Amino acid sequence: MAVIARRMRHLGTENAFKLGDDIQRCVDRGLDVIRFNLGAPDFNSPPHLNRVAMEALDAGRAGYCDPAGILPFREAIAAHFTRTRGVEVTPDRVVVTPGAKPPIGYTMQTYVNEGDEVIYPSPGFPIYESWVQFVGAVPVPLLLTDDRDFSFDADDLAALITERTKVIILCSPSNPTGGVLSRSELAGIARVIRERCRPDVRIYSDEIYEQILFDGLEHESIVAHRGMPERTVVASGHSKGFAMTGWRLGWAVLPTPEEAAVFKRININIVSCVPPFLQEAGAAAYEDPASAGEVARMVEAFRRRRDWIVPALNDVPGVRCLMPKGAFYVFPDVSGLCERLGAYREYAELAEAARCRTTPAGMLQMFLLYRYGVATMDRASFGRIGAEGQDFLRMSIANGMDDIRRGVSRIREAAGDADGFADFVRAEGAKGGEGLFS
Ligand code: PLP
Repeated sequence: MAVIARRMRHLGTENAFKLGDDIQRCVDRGLDVIRFNLGAPDFNSPPHLNRVAMEALDAGRAGYCDPAGILPFREAIAAHFTRTRGVEVTPDRVVVTPGAKPPIGYTMQTYVNEGDEVIYPSPGFPIYESWVQFVGAVPVPLLLTDDRDFSFDADDLAALITERTKVIILCSPSNPTGGVLSRSELAGIARVIRERCRPDVRIYSDEIYEQILFDGLEHESIVAHRGMPERTVVASGHSKGFAMTGWRLGWAVLPTPEEAAVFKRININIVSCVPPFLQEAGAAAYEDPASAGEVARMVEAFRRRRDWIVPALNDVPGVRCLMPKGAFYVFPDVSGLCERLGAYREYAELAEAARCRTTPAGMLQMFLLYRYGVATMDRASFGRIGAEGQDFLRMSIANGMDDIRRGVSRIREAAGDADGFADFVRAEGAKGGEGLFS
């Protein structure tokens, strides 16, 4: 009998975390690594929220609490939801989770049977594809391309919907593309769902970047469209907009109290509850007027960095980068750079087993990390199925301006180092591929 259960073969991962071992190896070898890999704001959590949590802790509110979340936090979430989406919701439809990641798996466990189809954006957050496969569902990637601004319309979605579709995942603003779905695009998507999907099909709307939009755009949600509140699970939280990634504060609003009770039951089975003193600060994030200024300051910093890095990357030979409309990532097409460095040739010469473990952009990613100390994420880290032949890198701009400048300057230097690339592939290959494959 094998030690690890068979089902674990199907559980994927999030390479942004996994790359940590490679980064540590580089640091141990003496490299100074600029980290464009993790999607974590480089700001401290807001002081007025830290204070609320510390006071609650000092007052002893540190025991178990309601597994669905403390009522004042669920009320604050419901009020925030109504204010920002224009849809009334009662606290019995809200479940607090440790971050916005758990509701992805909860949704798959709650709604999806083996053999059901799940439509999800690709490139997209890798945990979607991971969970779809883990529950034995059929992954149906909705492939987004840069020639269409990483956008899609109602017809693209309609072409993927079948009798077996059970969940449709949306993410706007998007990780990794920075794409944002407009109100009229969402209206078209909602129309297709009303026309083509049975009432038991669920939409999973991942809105974790709801606060981070540029150029005067306002957050739009599918749930605001006719027929959607009764089908949509909306998930969001405090990690990105309030710079609270390590707090693990997230939530989901479910279509009915009965469905919320299932999410609560999963919480009971796995985490029991989210710490109550953190939830008190979570409520203050929505209720204290000081929050708006803190969020605006961070969004303005992301905008300034975006406006600097996009032209700077476009100036690197072989790189083509679109201007993201939201979130804090840029997602340049690096196929020209792969070409210049000979990555396609080197990739073609790898043994077949090695080719299955990487892509040309993946080799470029590791070259930039191990030889130039620049940590990025390759396209395959955001959904593997159907991603062949697409060579992109994701870079998080949740980094100080100095690091962003130094990072781009290193990429520019690397772009002229075809000999170094060939040497890197040979040297790492001779070591068994240690640095070549994450
Ligand atoms: N959804 C998307 C699209 C994300 O990018 C992330 C984090 O990177 C999450 C969910 C998870 O957020 P959290 O850290 O709150 O669990």
